[in-house]
Amino acid sequence: MATFDLLLLPGDGIGTEVMAEVKRIVTWLNARGTVTFNLEEDLVGGAAYDVHGVAVADATVDKALKADAVILGAVGGPKWDGVPYEARPESGLLRLRKDLELFANLRPAICYPALADGSSLKREVVEGLDIMIVRELTGGTYFGEPKEMVTLQNGEKRAVDTQIYTTHEIERITRIAFDLARKRSNKVHSADKRNVMISGVLWNEVVTAVHSAEYSDVELHHILADNCAMQLVRWPKQFDVIVTDNLFGDILSDEASMLTGSLGMLPSASLGAEDDNGKRRAMYEPVHGTAPDIAGQSKANPIAMITSFAMALRYSFDLGGEADIIEKAIAKVLDQGLRTGDIMQEGCQEVSTTAMGDAILSEMDAVAG
Ligand code: NAD
Repeated sequence: MATFDLLLLPGDGIGTEVMAEVKRIVTWLNARGTVTFNLEEDLVGGAAYDVHGVAVADATVDKALKADAVILGAVGGPKWDGVPYEARPESGLLRLRKDLELFANLRPAICYPALADGSSLKREVVEGLDIMIVRELTGGTYFGEPKEMVTLQNGEKRAVDTQIYTTHEIERITRIAFDLARKRSNKVHSADKRNVMISGVLWNEVVTAVHSAEYSDVELHHILADNCAMQLVRWPKQFDVIVTDNLFGDILSDEASMLTGSLGMLPSASLGAEDDNGKRRAMYEPVHGTAPDIAGQSKANPIAMITSFAMALRYSFDLGGEADIIEKAIAKVLDQGLRTGDIMQEGCQEVSTTAMGDAILSEMDAVAG
């Protein structure tokens, strides 16, 4: 039987509440007897600062480097607003992403039929939507040098950000996108701005070269990033996997994810390079933050956290069958009209975080037979 080591970092606020529901799902999977997960738990964010004076301790980073996957809740909150800049809760997240060299950010946008009316778009446009945005996370405009603001001789200021990409950086994110597409509907759109940016010309050339050398079985379309933004709200179901750079990915992934409704429904994964044994470093976390306005009240929607864990099953452990069980159970619970406050609709029943967890576990029993 396969055994995997998971490092759980619940973090702050509702992070701890939604992580508690993931722990129950892990217990359910372990009891089923087809896989064993060893759990280790540690501190990150404000919780780590309170104990160690830093947002993530060196020992925690070491554990993250050794784990088969890291599952993270959320960090931050008003309690830590005044801590020194370098120790702010978010710095723990940034350090983990950097030390684990997580260069690929995966943001699925899935619209459960039961929630289609919660979208700002029409039901027929979003119902059954299932797309994946693959964003390059460690290069491009956010990190390129020079990055500076200078005062010119005439007293005016000039600010510069630099968009830089190398062949290697584009190749590795492209492979992630094509590999994902092969497990999905076999279609990739690569979004760039080759019409006005020379980095876009390189992006386009490299994606095309990787495609013809290694992935000619996958359908590839090139699309200008601005057109992609427009098409995402016009007819998003034309997309399967979208691969793009750091800056465009930041914007397109937020746009795509919001097609589907609440922050409490949005999972994410960040993947790194494969090591010599073919193991890929990975961290899975919901898109939402610590929700101080509802923390400690069992009002948080645990679905983003649980589906982040389902992504770990699929992408780190090749346990797609187990991920299917979880996702089908969630769809059934939503069909039954159970809702946490963030996705509440008329005629539905509002339930707590733990009651939502109970309902999902009970449907997992039913789905797994
Ligand atoms: P937030 O995502 O925490 O909350 C925004 C709104 O969405 C709130 O009204 C909240 O109640 C609601 N919400 C979020 N997740 C929910 C869930 N699972 N169920 C139900 N409702 C949910 O964003 P914010 O208020 O801007 O930030 C609060 C804190 O979280 C800040 O300290 C911020 O820095 C931090 N933050 C952390 C992360 C992270 O850890 N990745 C991401 C974003 C914000």
